[in-house]
Amino acid sequence: MSSVLSAKHFHDEAAAFAFVEKRVWPNGPVCPHCGGVERIGALKGKSTRLGTYKCYQCRKPFTVKVGTVFESSHIPMHIWLQGIALLSSSKKGISTNQLHRILGITLKAAWFMSHRIREAMRSGSLAPMGGSGGIVEADETYIGKRKEKRTMRTSGQPFIKGGKAAQKLAVISLVERGGSVRSFHVENADKATVNNIVRDNIAREACVHTDESRIYNDMRGNVASHDTVKHSVGEYVRYEPGRSIHTNTVEGVFSILKRGMVGVYQHCAEKHLHRYLAEFDFRYNHRIALGVNDTARADAAIKGIVGKRLTYRAVV
Ligand SMILES: [Zn+2]
Repeated sequence: MSSVLSAKHFHDEAAAFAFVEKRVWPNGPVCPHCGGVERIGALKGKSTRLGTYKCYQCRKPFTVKVGTVFESSHIPMHIWLQGIALLSSSKKGISTNQLHRILGITLKAAWFMSHRIREAMRSGSLAPMGGSGGIVEADETYIGKRKEKRTMRTSGQPFIKGGKAAQKLAVISLVERGGSVRSFHVENADKATVNNIVRDNIAREACVHTDESRIYNDMRGNVASHDTVKHSVGEYVRYEPGRSIHTNTVEGVFSILKRGMVGVYQHCAEKHLHRYLAEFDFRYNHRIALGVNDTARADAAIKGIVGKRLTYRAVV
């Protein structure tokens, strides 16, 4: 058995370009400027940058980086591929600091890289969950520390009574049993928000399981059935003929998310939370139990790089 990271595309820049090209352009180069696929030639001059092609229809040069998360990045492609492999295979995520140390790039570059990879991991799947009568578990959780209540006026700052006291970020997740997860950062975990998420993401023929929280009370019109377990009285699984009602799957997803958000990503600004959720969802949706190994998972992330440009300005 050899190290996953011993593959040539993790060390050789030309091999790295070839590796990415094969995934982005399975049928040969496509001009990102005019969409042309014919009359495209590789430029091989000594002063030409690696992986440069010229489209003889619109006469513009391009590389596979144009229009992807790699665009305008100065980080070598083989280092990008190492970063993608690391982030794809670390169950609880990998901190900017660690990426910076392992990959030998600056902290700023590591931070930018990891957010771009998360962007590539963002699912484009819009197919309704729980079709053909599948079970979808829904639950909410909160990320972040409860800020301490300020009881004293400090150094000239105005005293805000209870200000931002309970600034936790709300997340609602849907998990199809034996299938995939979709997580949403929401302003408020309330009935209206839940109803919108259910309507937009869950099939009408699905059976939904939740706990007894009232925010799930109104979804019956949108799904085939809604069953609850009463956590407040210690009921975690209820067995009925041919089925078991519980929310253990979504709680398992939350436990990995929370360990990652607390242990690895200690500082998460609200505006970036959706990208961290995309990262955790991505790994769950490409998990070993579904037959996806580390290599295939990294491959899936690379396929997601197209059309996911993220400028530095959008990240900071
Ligand atoms: Zn062209």
